[in-house]
Amino acid sequence: MRGSPAGPRLLLRRLREAMAEPIGAQERLDKIVVLIAANMVAEVCSVYILRADDVLELFATEGLNRSAVHQTTLRVREGLVGLIAAEAIALNLSDARSHPAFAYRPETGEEVYNGFLGVPVLRAGRILGVLVVQNRARRTYSEEEVEALQTTAMVIAEMFAAGGFETIARPGAPLDLRRPMRLHGTVLSDGVGLGYVVLHEPRVVVTDLIGEDVDHELGRLATSLDKLRLSVDDMLARRDVTDGEHRDVLETYRMFARDRGWARKMEDAVRNGLTAEAAVERVQSDTRARMLRSTDPYLRERLHDLDDLANRLLRELIGRPQLDGADKLPKDAIVVARNMGAAELLDYDRDRLRGLVLEEGGPTSHVTIVARALGIPAVGQVAGAVSLVERGDAVIVDGEAGEVHFRPPSDVETAYGEKVRFRARRQAQYRRLRSKPSVTIDGHAVTLQLNAGLLVDMPHLDESAAAGIGLFRTELLFMVASQLPRVNEQVAIYRRVMDAAGDRPVTFRSLDIGGDKILPYLRSVEEENPAMGWRAIRLGLDRPALLRTQIRALLHAAAGRDLRLMFPMVASTAEFRAARSLVDRELRHLKRHAHRIPDYVRLGVMLEVPSLLFEIDELLGEVDFVSVGSNDLFQFMTATDRGNIRVADRYDPLSLPFLRALKRIVDRAALAHVPVSLCGEIAGRPLSAMALIALGYRTISMSPSAIGPVKEMLRALDVGRLRARLLPRLEPGRWNGDLRAFLAEYAAEHDIPV
Ligand code: PEP
Ligand code: MG
Repeated sequence: MRGSPAGPRLLLRRLREAMAEPIGAQERLDKIVVLIAANMVAEVCSVYILRADDVLELFATEGLNRSAVHQTTLRVREGLVGLIAAEAIALNLSDARSHPAFAYRPETGEEVYNGFLGVPVLRAGRILGVLVVQNRARRTYSEEEVEALQTTAMVIAEMFAAGGFETIARPGAPLDLRRPMRLHGTVLSDGVGLGYVVLHEPRVVVTDLIGEDVDHELGRLATSLDKLRLSVDDMLARRDVTDGEHRDVLETYRMFARDRGWARKMEDAVRNGLTAEAAVERVQSDTRARMLRSTDPYLRERLHDLDDLANRLLRELIGRPQLDGADKLPKDAIVVARNMGAAELLDYDRDRLRGLVLEEGGPTSHVTIVARALGIPAVGQVAGAVSLVERGDAVIVDGEAGEVHFRPPSDVETAYGEKVRFRARRQAQYRRLRSKPSVTIDGHAVTLQLNAGLLVDMPHLDESAAAGIGLFRTELLFMVASQLPRVNEQVAIYRRVMDAAGDRPVTFRSLDIGGDKILPYLRSVEEENPAMGWRAIRLGLDRPALLRTQIRALLHAAAGRDLRLMFPMVASTAEFRAARSLVDRELRHLKRHAHRIPDYVRLGVMLEVPSLLFEIDELLGEVDFVSVGSNDLFQFMTATDRGNIRVADRYDPLSLPFLRALKRIVDRAALAHVPVSLCGEIAGRPLSAMALIALGYRTISMSPSAIGPVKEMLRALDVGRLRARLLPRLEPGRWNGDLRAFLAEYAAEHDIPV
């Protein structure tokens, strides 16, 4: 009969009693193996624990030679025990010795045993050890027995997690649970952060493992499953769930939530004596372990959905976990998440946040932009991060090398402590530069401005002593909002930005959305090639309501002051003209209704589409200023997707074609007496900033942390001398060397810190 064996439940009760006894970890484990062996009518029960060196050490046994405890070891993949650990599967064999993986260990005396059942000890999908029972007889264990041993293994996993085993492992062999780990990812935001793990979506921690009343627990499970299914249906029925990815995910949820196999596995675990919540956790841990070992990316992706669903079910059963809200945030918090929205990051207390680790997250994702704005080191694409840590684990985020260290050993921690102090000394050095003029050795003043996009950026103006905001990416405000900001809300925000800037100019850029910058509340169109698609000014001119509202809000906000506004992705002078006529129309409207208007309105373009280079004189004849968007200009000139790490670094901006293009822009603008600045990433790197200044740029805009290093560089630069060396190298047929190498050598020779 399938179902309610009294045995497993009795065993669980006994285990609970053993766990409550005030005894040491080794004694407890010794007791537990005896209990399991007796309950399962097995002659042997052994527990192996995985050590950090990928070795499984025999920690306790009933039936094998006791002298083998802490002596017998197997590598992962070695022997049956090693195979279970490697594959995270149960092995049920009637004749263990004839299995090809069987590894004989004479000291254990196990050669007389034939029947073998081993299961992995798993926690959150991670292998912590292996639990084995053996019999002399050639017997195959029943499905119920396999299930019962798996359930027992879960209790043992909790025991391991509670600690106390470190001291009894073979000396010098730390256990896997606390093993230091170094993981590679992608740099999202520069800097180094040391602190302690805070899980963005804390796992629901199941503390009540052993159920007293099977029917009651089955009832709880059924009710919660029903509620879960209803809530998924509700989500699907909501009107705002349109076609596309979001809907696909929910459809997958619905499929999983209705999966009979999933429900049955959980019911079986309950019948074996677990509480409903422990059953959910048990089944999920098992599924996760198997899926993590799968090489199929589709399956691994589905694991996220299943994890989500299991977490929802746990919440139905035991309520919300304690969220790591701002009030509970430790002083040095490093948030670890699968992924998160930009607004969610802003919910954390900035003063306590030291870093961010994401399993997903790309260099241009919104949360990345916010992390940079907040100056928080962040590393993304760290596979499996969430399941490898517990809340409170020590962690180092290295936003220079793109690495994360979980539970770092003390020498690594010391080395990083030194690195952080070094960076702090550099920052102090840069702060001392704040009051120093931004002028080169030979007397050329260079205006250093900031790139910004959120209100949290504004304090950086004072901190860095930047001369203004050279690029305010307004779309960021829209991206972190949960709904389209109304005109009044926009007015209030723009006003706060201008108030915070005081006398310093702010150059707003109209919405650069579309492509990969999607507003969650606006319908988006799938495009083959979004970077070159219906975005920015194109969208603004075709659907002018959004752009007009923004223009109106900016004009209101700048009443009685100067407004500087530029348009992104302009590809022809005609587009600029069309945008300008929208502004004129709004101005006329405001005047007609006797609204106060700005003292001056200056309109410019982002020069970031190469076609403009070929009508630059016409363009300069119409605009009040231009700002070179070197990120996009370079991407389009070299036909390399800036978000694609395979090609993004293939070509060098410090190369002949690009430097020539930049020179042409600055020269033509000078002739036309039109102010020109540059606000792409190259402005913030000292070496490329040095080249820009040599080409003739006198206003550059960058991220806040770049101001110090760039200022330090330019105060050591003799522009005239560099220009005399650089410009001839840009002439046709004059030189074919490596321009980056030339610039770096020049800097080294002249003691210019780059
Ligand atoms: C650029 O393209 O260089 C630029 C500054 O704008 P964004 O990075 O927002 O596209
Ligand atoms: Mg751009």
